[in-house]
Amino acid sequence: MSLPQPGPMSLVPFVSVETMMQLILRRGLEPMLIDLAACIEEDFRRWEQFDKTPRIAAHSAEGVIELMPTSDGRSYGFKYVNGHPKNYQTGRQTVTAFGVLSDVETGYPVLLTEMTILTALRTAATSALVAKYLAPKGAKVMAMIGNGAQSEFQCLAFKAICGIDTVRLYDIDPEATAKAARNLQGKGLNVVSCVSGQEAIEGAQIITTCTADKQFATILTDNMVGAGVHINAIGGDCPGKTELHRDILTRSDIFVEFPPQTRIEGEIQQLPEDHPVTEFWQVVTGATPGRTGDRQITLFDSVGFATEDFSALRYLNDLIRKDASVQMLDLLADPDDPRDLFGMIERYGRASQPA
Ligand code: NAD
Repeated sequence: MSLPQPGPMSLVPFVSVETMMQLILRRGLEPMLIDLAACIEEDFRRWEQFDKTPRIAAHSAEGVIELMPTSDGRSYGFKYVNGHPKNYQTGRQTVTAFGVLSDVETGYPVLLTEMTILTALRTAATSALVAKYLAPKGAKVMAMIGNGAQSEFQCLAFKAICGIDTVRLYDIDPEATAKAARNLQGKGLNVVSCVSGQEAIEGAQIITTCTADKQFATILTDNMVGAGVHINAIGGDCPGKTELHRDILTRSDIFVEFPPQTRIEGEIQQLPEDHPVTEFWQVVTGATPGRTGDRQITLFDSVGFATEDFSALRYLNDLIRKDASVQMLDLLADPDDPRDLFGMIERYGRASQPA
């Protein structure tokens, strides 16, 4: 008697870290960022179809573990993600993640995937998509403050989607800047390494802050930010973890993903609850204008929202349908008689006994 084999319905495609790297190398990072940004834009445009809730966060002294669920009624997705700024000291990532996409009709998962790399891609694609709507026209120079794991993805997304040609790097850790500069060599960008935040923002029309520190930090002070720039603030994404001086916020027009989550986690946690913000999806649909003047400071107070992960999951799900290298996981029990889960174990036990 042969051992019961998992049926096709019980096998779930699994994208490992290795498979994700192969997909990126085969498809090309910039084409993927462009396609991903298009999916994210499409989902912002149909924002009202999604179930939305602030992410469910478990905070500790060292970091946070979060679940980010959403559904458009046909598919359901969630991401598990952590943020632990001190992990670097023990050789670990600050942010790691994995996620699941499911079919709402049956409840069956259709995809399980690593999302540490995918998060870097979706965060970069989202940042650049938002800047496409808000940054000054013809912006060519971006300051990239915080040169950790997310930074190269950010730089290349802004090149591919917004057409920037120069990045000015700064990190308190010069080794992080050297690493980013090395990784960006030969990627079609002028790369300038700077020794201070002030130097990095010189001549930049876009300023990205992507630092990790579990405390109120001031990466940009008010006097550093001139009229007309676009700020892409992505590092402050937790209660007590911000990057910008409050005075910058009061001079800026602030754009957010989902206000109930951003009020808890974003830069605007420093402001009163009723401080006006614009929801980015309304800019995408044309309901609200984005940039309205040359001297306006636009600020994307990014924290990362579940719909962006959903877009990334559905993009990946389409991509792997054409890819034979994806592993199939025996994740779901699949008894011959759906009601006989118990009997399946018994049959397995009998079949696996030596003859
Ligand atoms: P990382 O730990 O790899 O890199 C962070 C970098 O910031 C480090 O190189 C560190 O030296 C630098 N840094 C810390 N304080 C600084 C300062 N005062 N000035 C300049 N540089 C400073 O982390 P990462 O994976 O690149 O993530 C960066 C941040 O972005 C984290 O806080 C993370 O939670 C956040 N994040 C946000 C989103 C989003 O959607 N908004 C998505 C992913 C990550």
